[in-house]
Amino acid sequence: MKIKLIILSVVVVLLLLSYKWTSEPSETVGLVVIGAGASGMSAALEAEAAGVKVILLEKMPYVGGNTVRATAGMNAVSTDAQSEAGIVDDVGTFVSDILESGHSEGNPRMIEIMANESAFALDWLTEKGADLSDVGILAGHSIPRTHRPSGGQPVGGEIVSVLKGAIQSSTVDLRLEHKAVQILVDQNHEISGVGVVDKTGRKYTINAKKVIIATGGFGGSPEVFVYYNQKLKGYHTTNSPSATGDFIGLVENLGVQLVDMSYIQTHPTVSLEYGVLITEAIRGNGGILINSSGKRFANEMKNRDYLSEDLLSQPDKEVYLLFNEKVRESLAASDDYIDMDLILSAPDVETLANALRIDTQNLSETLDRYNGFVESQVDLDFGRRSLTVILDEGPFYAVRVTPAVHYCMGGILIDEQARVIDENGKPITGLYASGEATGGIHGLNRLGGNSLLDAIVFGRIAGRSAGE
Ligand SMILES: Cc1cc2nc3c(=O)[nH]c(=O)nc-3n(C[C@H](O)[C@H](O)[C@H](O)COP(=O)(O)OP(=O)(O)OC[C@H]3O[C@@H](n4cnc5c(N)ncnc54)[C@H](O)[C@@H]3O)c2cc1C
Repeated sequence: MKIKLIILSVVVVLLLLSYKWTSEPSETVGLVVIGAGASGMSAALEAEAAGVKVILLEKMPYVGGNTVRATAGMNAVSTDAQSEAGIVDDVGTFVSDILESGHSEGNPRMIEIMANESAFALDWLTEKGADLSDVGILAGHSIPRTHRPSGGQPVGGEIVSVLKGAIQSSTVDLRLEHKAVQILVDQNHEISGVGVVDKTGRKYTINAKKVIIATGGFGGSPEVFVYYNQKLKGYHTTNSPSATGDFIGLVENLGVQLVDMSYIQTHPTVSLEYGVLITEAIRGNGGILINSSGKRFANEMKNRDYLSEDLLSQPDKEVYLLFNEKVRESLAASDDYIDMDLILSAPDVETLANALRIDTQNLSETLDRYNGFVESQVDLDFGRRSLTVILDEGPFYAVRVTPAVHYCMGGILIDEQARVIDENGKPITGLYASGEATGGIHGLNRLGGNSLLDAIVFGRIAGRSAGE
């Protein structure tokens, strides 16, 4: 009798549990896109344009992820803006810059696609209303090809506001504060939907045979980046708190290949006092780096990984980024740092040296020597090629910087159609990924301005593939 009672209770509990599960609301849609950064929004728009009903999930109360933080620009080749500025560039040169920056470990085919699609990606954003008409050069590039709004305004806000506007005028169902917690498969191991938790804690299921993962990277989570690369213990980060590598948990049981997970880029110029990345565009537009002795110590336009190493070998592992009024005038983004009181300003070299507690003579000699290199267009000390501004007239500006974790080259392996690849090298039907959640494209080090390009190009490809 007692045993019967126990069995009956267990059955009742199981029935209640199963009732709770099946009673969770569910709905059906053509495609679920997870993450509303540059990549997820681009993917959602392309799939919608192909006639697919799309739900776009975003775990934060706002769209934009790391994308909205981007300042320096997005790379593109053979654009109208380049022609107007008289810049001659081609896909081949861009591809070779990318391969060199990645220590020849990047995927040549994917890089070629990215470079070939770059002008189309820029035109697509421009047609939607983006202003990307200003062109500058970033570290590691042989030619100016990094596009940003006119006057050198930050690029991320521009791209996010344009994509968000397009999403709002589309049929895409954007759900803020709805976090994807599981990618579901049916009894045939085929993609069948996404498990979601909304801001109230309500769980529900979206049935969908197609899912795009665009959750961004894991550079915002020290636990995760240190797990994949122990050398980064103690490092600060430039990333949004949203960049927690959710894609890792989402694909955990799906047999997905994760690649290059230990390849994590540090950005050399971050102000730790304020936790703000100082854009590479300041060096691109003429800024230099000096150490506490007032000396240059490297080619400021070196790739980020090499420059970070050089910087970390300086006393206190901190240096100053120095520029003058001419550079400031060329880059509106630098005004943001001045408005934030991040940057020290001084009318002349002597006042600047005193404020930085650097020997005035050393600093004057460094600037005279550097200015001579700009005049002769040959940097005899470090071989810097982009020598555009003579730093002889104040006001001068300086900010203390050091490297911080910035970008994850590793992530989900995808193919040319942005299909997710499994451990046997085969695409998983119905599962796509794009943007910083993916890996294996850039190699050991990503070239500045290429992440937005990657996010938009492969986001659009993922959306089109899912729309087929
Ligand atoms: C300070 C800074 C400056 C940068 N400057 C540049 C630059 O000038 N040029 C350049 O090319 N690159 C730059 N980058 C890099 C670039 O911004 C990013 O790599 C790129 O924007 C990534 O786009 P994404 O769409 O893949 O990811 P994100 O923009 O990070 O978007 C991912 C979205 O997914 C959401 N999400 C995550 N998990 C879930 C989940 N479980 N459910 C629902 N939603 C989820 C996140 O909240 C986020 O909104 C910069 C990065 C930083 C941090």
